[in-house]
Amino acid sequence: MSRWKCGIEGCDARFENVENAIIHQTTEHERHECKVCGTIVPEGYFAIRHAFDEHTRAEFVRAYDADSSAVRIREDIKQAIEDVADLNRVVKTLRDEGAL
Ligand SMILES: [Zn+2]
Ligand SMILES: [Zn+2]
Repeated sequence: MSRWKCGIEGCDARFENVENAIIHQTTEHERHECKVCGTIVPEGYFAIRHAFDEHTRAEFVRAYDADSSAVRIREDIKQAIEDVADLNRVVKTLRDEGAL
């Protein structure tokens, strides 16, 4: 069963493991410009991680015109990924491909 869905703007790509999903998001989609600080980050997991590691929830809500449930959804996704993903492997793969 393919449990991980890309989810970026209606993208239906599905993956057996989360590492491949993140690699797909990073290499197949346009980069995202952070609305808080203007940094260009990969779309998907890395964009969520950037938003919540680098900024407060209040900054995120203001910049993205988001509400608390939008924050909670993203925090849940981030947590679910970090519970199972081998992010060192993801980052190494992406560096080897020159995508990071
Ligand atoms: Zn996708
Ligand atoms: Zn930012």
